[in-house]
This record gives sequence, structure tokens and C-alpha cells, in this order.
Amino acid sequence: MRLVCWRCGFQTEYRPGLYTCESCGEPLLVDGDFRESLRREGTLIPQELRTVTLGEGKTPLIKSREGIYLKLEYLNPTGSFKDRGAATAVSEALCRGCKLIIEDSSGNAGISYSAYAGRAGIRARIYVPYDAPPGKKNMLRALGAEVVEAPTRDEAARLAVNDQEGCYVGHRINPYFLEGMKDLPLELVKELDDVDYVVSPLASGTLLIGLWKGYRELVEVGMVKHVPKLVAVQACGYESLAKYYKPYMSVCRSKAQLPDGIRLTDAPRLQHMAEILRESEGLYVVVDDELVLPYLRELWREGVVAEPTSAYGYAVARELVKDGSISGRIVVILTGNGIKHVSGGMIL
Ligand SMILES: [Zn+2]
Repeated sequence: MRLVCWRCGFQTEYRPGLYTCESCGEPLLVDGDFRESLRREGTLIPQELRTVTLGEGKTPLIKSREGIYLKLEYLNPTGSFKDRGAATAVSEALCRGCKLIIEDSSGNAGISYSAYAGRAGIRARIYVPYDAPPGKKNMLRALGAEVVEAPTRDEAARLAVNDQEGCYVGHRINPYFLEGMKDLPLELVKELDDVDYVVSPLASGTLLIGLWKGYRELVEVGMVKHVPKLVAVQACGYESLAKYYKPYMSVCRSKAQLPDGIRLTDAPRLQHMAEILRESEGLYVVVDDELVLPYLRELWREGVVAEPTSAYGYAVARELVKDGSISGRIVVILTGNGIKHVSGGMIL
């Protein structure tokens, strides 16, 4: 397993704890033997990153009444797609002898990391913003994590990075976390072959970059013809990608409150995300709670208990289909489970 930098071409053999490029500072990517993993075990994830598991992945794909495919990532072990990344990232941390992992999170990533740390028999310390949903904070504590509250999401990130006591495994820069995402496109390809659009909410970009990396590898082995057009959705007031990529559509009347998973004003991999959208001829869309709320209700009334952040992706897919901007085979990734929200007091 090697590490590479997409931006400057830096390469190195695996080095424990090295996440960012020594030459330009960009978070690194894993360059592993996916062909061998795929041929032998039907996964794109390198073998050394598969030691800790709770049965993540292989989530259902259903078709909504409106004909849009919904990938139910909220049915992962702790209720979000982040379980895929926590499995591989904790595997790597365990492998290099970490006894305490440190993460910053608005909720879901911390919950995933806490569960997988528990599974691996090591401790987890999670920095969260104080206004993270109470249901999520309760879950972190129930899973045995040490919860440290910070004034904002960005401050939580700063504090976690500077905590020297354990191994910082932050999903925002962790190359091994991204690797865990790659079987998501593999599952889509097995069920649907070629897809025209994949729509997902965007914060740290682990899902977008993981989708792109998985699809690229599947194109390389000839399992699929091309990477689908990727549609990235951000919330009003948190449009960090706008610095690097022009929104195709922006409906922004008030600062978003609902989607706790994407209320992040900065992320380390933004330039790479913009590059990926350019390469896949993807779209970037910014919307607000007012536009999304009816679609969140629509999902729940259809029995799909996705969290508000996921509804951002679904709302944009529905709007873009309505106005004829996108068509064909469309998949929306429903990233997180809404049960964590209703148990914390959300009323729809
Ligand atoms: Zn570099």
C-alpha cells in the first residue's frame, strides 16, 4: 500500500500516521492493489484495511415513488455511510498500535468512530459542536466515547487536531477513511450498471471523493464505462465549495439550520472536490431549509427515515429533474438516519 498526492504527485510507501503530503500539505490518497482485492474477494478495499468490521455496506437500493433510486446508507451499523470509512480507518489505527483515537465530528462520523473503536477494543475521544443534535451526543456517550464539546464545528476540528494524547484519525484528511467508501460505487454498479447521476450532500467530501475513487478504479478494471456525473449539494450559509466551483443553482434565502451534517464552513479537500466535479462534468448546488423541508417530509411519509442532511440531496435531485436539468438513471445517497433526530426532539 502506497500513499500519493493528487495535486503535486508526491508518493511514498505506507507510513503510520502520515495523512498529508509532505511537499504541499494536501491530504493524501491510498494507492493500493484494488485489482487483487476485487478478483479474490469482491471488494475494492485493500486487505490490510479490513481487520475491523461491524458488517457495514451492502445497503439496500430502492426506487422512490418519483422514480429516483435511493441508496439507503442510513441502514449501516450506526446509521450512516461513515461506518464504511470508520471500519477502514480504525483498522489502520489498530494496525499501528493506537489505543486512543481522536476525531472531530458533528455527530455521525464520531458515532461511527466510537462504535468501531469499541469493536476494536480501543478508546475514542470525540470533539463536537455544542449544538450537535442531543440524540447524537447521547449516542456517542452510550457507545463509550469521551465527548468534548466546542463552541462551533470549526473549533471542534481545531481542538481535535491539536490533541496530542492519542492518534488523530480525522475523517476530513484520513486517506484510509476514503478507502472504505469505494465499495459503495461497486454495489451500485452491480445493481444498476451505468448510472447517469449520483447526488449527495457535501461537507468534508469523503463521500464525493470516495465515490469518484471507487468509480475510477471500476473504470480501470472495465466494470463500468465511465464515472457518473456527480452532483454535490451544500446548504445555504455553508457553501464552502463556491470558492472553487460555480454553483449550477443556488436557492439561498436564509442560513440553514436543519442539516447538521453539512454545517461546515471549510474543508481541507475542497480543491480536489472541485477538480472531481470538473472531471465528471458534475453539478454543484446550494439550497436552503425552506426548499428542503417539504422533501424531507415526502421521504418520511414514504417510510424513508433519512436525516435532514440526506434530504438536501434528495430535494436537489427532485428539483433538477422537475426543471429538466438532469434525467436518466439517478441515485441519491441517503447518508444518515433520521431516528437520531426524532429521538433528539425533531418534529416533522
Ligand atoms: Zn502534494
